[in-house]
Amino acid sequence: MNKPNILIIGAGMAGLGAAHRLRDAGLTPCVVDKNLFPGGHATSFQHGDFLFDDGPHISFTRDERLQGLFAESVGGEYEVIQTQVNNYWQGCWIKHPAQCNLHGLPTELVVEIIRDFVDASHAEPGTIENYADWLLASYGRTFAETFPMQYGRKYHTTGAGNMTIDWLGPRLYRPDLEEVLRGALSPVTPDVHYVDHFRYPSHGGFVAFLKHFVDATQLELGREVITIDPAARRVTFADGRETPYDHLVSSMPLPELISRIASAPEDVVAAAKLLACTTCVVVNIGVDRADLSEAQWTYFYDDDFVFTRLSFPHMLSPHTVPAGAGSIQAEIYYSPKYRPLDRQPDNFIQPTLDDLKRCGLLREDDQILHRNARLVPYANVIFDLDRPAALATVLGYLEDVGIATCGRYGKWGYHWTDESFVSGEEAAVEVLDRL
Ligand SMILES: Cc1cc2nc3c(=O)[nH]c(=O)nc-3n(C[C@H](O)[C@H](O)[C@H](O)COP(=O)(O)OP(=O)(O)OC[C@H]3O[C@@H](n4cnc5c(N)ncnc54)[C@H](O)[C@@H]3O)c2cc1C
Repeated sequence: MNKPNILIIGAGMAGLGAAHRLRDAGLTPCVVDKNLFPGGHATSFQHGDFLFDDGPHISFTRDERLQGLFAESVGGEYEVIQTQVNNYWQGCWIKHPAQCNLHGLPTELVVEIIRDFVDASHAEPGTIENYADWLLASYGRTFAETFPMQYGRKYHTTGAGNMTIDWLGPRLYRPDLEEVLRGALSPVTPDVHYVDHFRYPSHGGFVAFLKHFVDATQLELGREVITIDPAARRVTFADGRETPYDHLVSSMPLPELISRIASAPEDVVAAAKLLACTTCVVVNIGVDRADLSEAQWTYFYDDDFVFTRLSFPHMLSPHTVPAGAGSIQAEIYYSPKYRPLDRQPDNFIQPTLDDLKRCGLLREDDQILHRNARLVPYANVIFDLDRPAALATVLGYLEDVGIATCGRYGKWGYHWTDESFVSGEEAAVEVLDRL
């Protein structure tokens, strides 16, 4: 019997996960990617002597099977790092999560936060219709409005009242009153972040965790899928070539996937247009010293700071920078639906450097050894109120026409790298079930 011709769109975590599962079943899928490099969002770029990931990436999967697979890819050479995260708010640096680390904030604010927290914990439980309701019920008004709602507007580009809560999982810690009080009175608190430690490859950046899969996969890079005809089971590429397939797995972003299927019904096309995602401008900075920060990443709440989050790649592996140097990666968020990008990425470099000095992370005499800015067109799926119905319509249609989707942008979820990989494996099982 001839082996089925299985085409996988996307050589990121999900596409490579799908290929891995299909190979295990004795099949030889072909993975195509429009990029000239594999890894998708999990890729890493060498800029001179500095190595930066596409955006900040660490592996905190608790899945031992995946831990083993990623470790194998890097020949066991990875760093295990204890997580340290902090927050910057109006000149104050406080440990993360802020809700149980209020020490160091202005007294009046701490009093108001605790008063509202107590009031909220005694209030009659109301209906939770959106993320704003959840935040107010969980933390009280002062904390909710000062921290997560403010951060959320910068990060998600839309207000908490326009968001669902199905993405929360362990992301927002809910302390009891005793933890809040202890954190307000003392600078020393237990670590309660849901990522208590993580792994990072010693060499080659985050993408090194994928090496094993990249080597084992039949990959065709620089091949952008332009049209898909599910009835004829045929795709065309940007170079004009056509390929038939028996089974198709896609990890490309759903709005783009739908826009490339000429026969997609109008309601599906309309639903796909409602799916919202942030775009991220990533500014990468190399500095002539390594003692830049105590935390591996920092959240920035204030609107007058251009970046939303900073991370420090040299703290993940010393091999990402020249000896003695340090590196900073800043994330700045926009979205076509809620906050369209208004400048070229390069125009964010100087404001980033200025704000790094303003908060004290950079000194006037620091030498900037590297600077560059990149646009990440699809960053975080926005869990706005339009998403549930629109997603159901789009995924229902794709199921009907036999296209298996996977990954963060193929399932339109919050998937971390491990979840994207597993989602690829699940799409492969869908294909196997159909054989
Ligand atoms: C800023 C940021 C930080 C993150 N940090 C972490 C972290 O610390 N830890 C963690 O575990 N996860 C993190 N993630 C999530 C992680 O990046 C994703 O879970 C994962 O990389 C998604 O993989 P994927 O294969 O689903 O999608 P992608 O990586 O996007 O892969 C899809 C591939 O499809 C290709 N493609 C698209 N259109 C076409 C087309 N028309 N033709 C051919 N190919 C096409 C793309 O080029 C891409 O390579 C982060 C994400 C972002 C944005």
